[in-house]
Amino acid sequence: MRMRKKKNGEKRIAACAAYLVSEPITSFAELFGNEREVHVEIGCGKGNFVCGMAEKDPEVNFLAVEKVSDVCCIALEKAKAALEASGTDNVRFYIGDANSLCDIIPPHSVDCIYLNFSDPWPKKGHTKRRLTYRGFLEIYRKLLKEGGVLKLKTDNVGLFDFSLEEFEAEGLEFLMQTRDLHHSEYAEGNVMTEYEKNFSDKGMNICSAHVRFIKKENE
Ligand code: SAH
Repeated sequence: MRMRKKKNGEKRIAACAAYLVSEPITSFAELFGNEREVHVEIGCGKGNFVCGMAEKDPEVNFLAVEKVSDVCCIALEKAKAALEASGTDNVRFYIGDANSLCDIIPPHSVDCIYLNFSDPWPKKGHTKRRLTYRGFLEIYRKLLKEGGVLKLKTDNVGLFDFSLEEFEAEGLEFLMQTRDLHHSEYAEGNVMTEYEKNFSDKGMNICSAHVRFIKKENE
């Protein structure tokens, strides 16, 4: 997500410091003050999805990850306002890259990971940057609890096809897949992201898959 450099970006982020993770997490129970499920969104953009999910499911704790600080700033401010208004406290943010998550999140502590409209990186030379490339799946395997789930949504058919192949190669268990989420049996309760709303307003289909990480034979 590109955007103009925000004025006072650092100050604005500092004002939301209570919702920002800036050091490795020792335990989610300590971070949130309870033992509830933890869901992580990678590439949260401006935060509509994580705010919508946190409101819909106040019994789940959410950590949203975004590598562009000016984008995350908008998500942070949105979440702060929503959490203060509702009196809930189940969302935190981390500004950083998906490839650094093993340094921040304790191993096998996450129940669910969301990838929403990740950059498709269509050029062949950029395969390894796609967030569903097998190298990233190995990171998610380390973060997720045994039986944890990865949920993908994208408008990009190339990225979707690639992701399905990677999931299969990694031996993940398919829980669902659809190439038209909004007209499928999985549409109910779907929380839209910023990109999802833009693409579906233009008449584009949304692809989605949910896969479960089960123990590898050699583990
Ligand atoms: N999920 C949002 C934004 C999609 S755009 C939505 O659906 O509306 C993809 C977002 O992922 C961008 O904000 C981009 O900065 C972020 N992103 C891309 N690669 C990332 C990475 N490796 N680690 C963390 N965030 C990443």
